[in-house]
Amino acid sequence: MKDHYRVLVVGGGTGGLMVASQLLQHEDDLDIAVIEPSDKHYYQPLWTLVGGGVFPKEESERDEADFIPDGADWIQDAVAELHPEENRVTLKSGESVGYDHLVMAAGIQIDWDAIPGMADGLKHPGSGVVSNYSFDTCEKTWEAIEAFPKGGTALFTEPTTGVKCGGAPQKIMYLADEAFRRNSVRDGSRIAFMKAKGKLFSSPKYERTLYDVVKRKDIEVNLMTELVEVRPDEREAVFKNIETGDAHTEHYDLIHVVPPMTAPDFIAQSDLADEEGWVDVDSGSLRHTRYENVYALGDNSNLPTSKTGAAIRKQAPILVDQLLAALHDREPLNGRYNGYTSCPLVTGYGKLVLAEFDYDKNPEESFPFDQSKERYSMYALKAYGLPRMYWNGMLRGRM
Ligand code: FAD
Repeated sequence: MKDHYRVLVVGGGTGGLMVASQLLQHEDDLDIAVIEPSDKHYYQPLWTLVGGGVFPKEESERDEADFIPDGADWIQDAVAELHPEENRVTLKSGESVGYDHLVMAAGIQIDWDAIPGMADGLKHPGSGVVSNYSFDTCEKTWEAIEAFPKGGTALFTEPTTGVKCGGAPQKIMYLADEAFRRNSVRDGSRIAFMKAKGKLFSSPKYERTLYDVVKRKDIEVNLMTELVEVRPDEREAVFKNIETGDAHTEHYDLIHVVPPMTAPDFIAQSDLADEEGWVDVDSGSLRHTRYENVYALGDNSNLPTSKTGAAIRKQAPILVDQLLAALHDREPLNGRYNGYTSCPLVTGYGKLVLAEFDYDKNPEESFPFDQSKERYSMYALKAYGLPRMYWNGMLRGRM
């Protein structure tokens, strides 16, 4: 590790690796380092299908070392403090690294302890509390689905905060419904979606399809309903109606929880943060609004779009172009980011609605057919095509 780099990337997840490898494709002698504490990298979109019993969780895991691009230094540490006014960061180890340009890609922070009883329930197998939102827990979702009793109650939650992949809290619900039917335990059972926000899905075109899906599957949808406590010993969950403030308690046999998520603390406490803690960037150029040598993409940014890896695929080339232009004192060549994001909404085994839309929630579809329809071809793309594209293309800076 040196004490100064031309480009310093914070986070070696989806966004950090894509930017580092694309920069090195353009300039193989670039002086660049990636700061990433973890020795494993996860393809998180697969966790939905792990929870649905389609893949083992190991399929989503690779060694980080195999994806740090040739030519980049890997600083295996975590950033503890950001000092943008001094163009340097402090690491957990206490060391300090300086930079000319900084790329922020540290992801989102999951607050497992924010809801009383949730973390406790997740630790105890057999408690019926499960979550696809981590590598350690996603496989247990499938165990609970397989153990679900005839006539039982399955609850699926989504918090008030933004979450990564806005569709993931409900995708697993659709898979669970189908698995219950296969296991002949769906009759007399209840499935309910307890979502703290006011809409089933943010883009109206795809929301219409999802309302057809919940109707067909006989799933209850409770909006503005926030999970506030889990009592794993009693198998009870407490919910608050956000409009009225009224609380009520529900029994469950299975509860799939999605924890509240926030900006990472070290960002929220820094000068790079907006008032909610995210890295404050221009929504078109991805450059910081106050520090012009700082850029951000992905989940830690305040880009007002749904936080997904697919969004990062479109953000990375814009950021890279802006950064190369700054390095060479020229105008950027690419256009501005329009908020493109995508959510492969799994609605069953072999069924998927590929939602793609921009900042205004207007569809921006890749295929020459109506993507709001459920299709096997789109499911095959998610299950078999996109993981290969991710490991072999996106992370290598090739797409
Ligand atoms: P991450 O990939 O999370 O990377 C952040 C990195 O920063 C991590 O490696 C972390 O170790 C590192 N880091 C953290 N703190 C520090 C620090 N202090 N210093 C240095 N490094 C640090 N997206 C889709 O496009 N399609 C999907 O179908 C989809 N489904 C999903 C389903 C689930 C269940 C989940 C959990 C996510 C899903 N996503 C999906 C979302 C997608 O995985 C994320 O949006 C994407 O990985 C975000 O990339 P990122 O680079 O911003 O953050």
